[in-house]
Amino acid sequence: MPPAPGFETRGRRAIPIVGLVIRCYTAGSLPEAHLMLHRLQDAGIEAHVFNQNAQSGVGEIPFTHAWPEIWLADPADLSRARAIVEAVEHPPAPWADWICHACAEANPGQFELCWSCGTAP
Ligand SMILES: [Zn+2]
Repeated sequence: MPPAPGFETRGRRAIPIVGLVIRCYTAGSLPEAHLMLHRLQDAGIEAHVFNQNAQSGVGEIPFTHAWPEIWLADPADLSRARAIVEAVEHPPAPWADWICHACAEANPGQFELCWSCGTAP
């Protein structure tokens, strides 16, 4: 039986791999994992992609064990890392939709003038 992610086998014992102490994200693809990795690294968080080469093992190992994972070097970064993951996965809408005060038509947020009557919000 292979060791759990973040652990390696020494004799009969599973020991943590230094530099991979806590998982913060499971990606659907390797490019997605690297995008997230770079966002975390840009924020000064030491992180690593685990399972980089496991995709070729799909079929022999369960596919859920082959997804690329992001592991952090320092568990103290976990809450900050999760906030970054949340911001990447659910970016805020850049502009809120608005209702024209002159004609009551709904306008997409990026419209600077009402599409119907030309009034500014
Ligand atoms: Zn209007």
